[in-house]
Amino acid sequence: MRDTVMDIENVDVWYGDKHAVLGVNMPVEEHGVTALIGASGCGKSTLLRSMNRMNDLIDGCRVEGGITFRGNDIYAEGTDVNEVRTRIGMIFQRPNPYPMSIRDNITYGPRIHGITKASELDEIVERTLRQAALWDEVKDRLKRSALGLSGGQQQRLCIARALAVNPDVILMDEPTSALDPEMVGEVLELMKELAHTGITMLVVTHEMGFAREVSNRVIFIDEGRIQEDEPPQELFSNPKHPRLKAFLSKML
Ligand code: ADP
Ligand code: MG
Repeated sequence: MRDTVMDIENVDVWYGDKHAVLGVNMPVEEHGVTALIGASGCGKSTLLRSMNRMNDLIDGCRVEGGITFRGNDIYAEGTDVNEVRTRIGMIFQRPNPYPMSIRDNITYGPRIHGITKASELDEIVERTLRQAALWDEVKDRLKRSALGLSGGQQQRLCIARALAVNPDVILMDEPTSALDPEMVGEVLELMKELAHTGITMLVVTHEMGFAREVSNRVIFIDEGRIQEDEPPQELFSNPKHPRLKAFLSKML
């Protein structure tokens, strides 16, 4: 049996009066790849953001229940939120490289963590860009602005940047849905490779092929609640909930 790296126990999330996530229980196994699926507005992003305290940045957002990372409550008083977001990295729908060079995007996090030696930083840059299948495309222009890259390259850079601080968990919120169609494949391919490295991944996605082929667990959310939580073979071949059946018939 795998260890539980994160545990979500009885979590509710509100935006003011709006109850967006209701009674979610979701232990997350180390090295697992979980796909979160469901219709727009069902609470996928809200749930994901509560897992590394990104919701802190939203006015009026309130999280109740327990979310632990390696047994520690990430909402406990005195928790270092930056450390939480380092251990539990996040990739957003729109690639958001920093307005600085490709190299500096990667070295930003490691520098904050006290790595200053150029050779060590160089090693991190090359390792993570290779991991993100981007090295060959950018190795001759590391000092140029990241904003000059294509959307697909930018998203792969954001993944490399997240990897540069050695996170334990990566949360991805529809990482391909804002990309031009011709760039979706390269990012999905990278996500698939990442999944094989053993990093724990939680991916909100509308890419049912990814959910079916790469994940080992698929969670269907409907109106803020988990309705099904199954291995992909089971969920796709034998959906039980009528809303899941309706959702899949639209997606597949
Ligand atoms: P999904 O990612 O599945 O599309 P979200 O988590 O974004 O869903 O949204 C869940 C519900 O919470 C929706 O009804 C949405 O309108 C509401 N919501 C999301 N963000 C906010 C916000 N910042 N303020 C108020 N309501 C929000
Ligand atoms: Mg969303």
